[in-house]
Amino acid sequence: MAKKTHIEKDLCIGCGLCTATVPEVFDWDDDGKAHVIVDEVPANLSDAVDSAAADCPTQAIIIDE
Ligand code: SF4
Repeated sequence: MAKKTHIEKDLCIGCGLCTATVPEVFDWDDDGKAHVIVDEVPANLSDAVDSAAADCPTQAIIIDE
């Protein structure tokens, strides 16, 4: 099943980790917080998204299996 992800905006502190490590999936919003730019995570980026979620300092990246 395709993996989906989203960001809890209230938790994001705009550190830039996810947008730097997986720019194909995460980009900046106008409010200086990250957001998800794909409907589904490409299979080849699945592990990278998992790592970003694990490394996000505020656990703002939610994996929606
Ligand atoms: S890693 Fe987490 S806190 Fe940093 S920009 Fe991404 S969602 Fe926001």
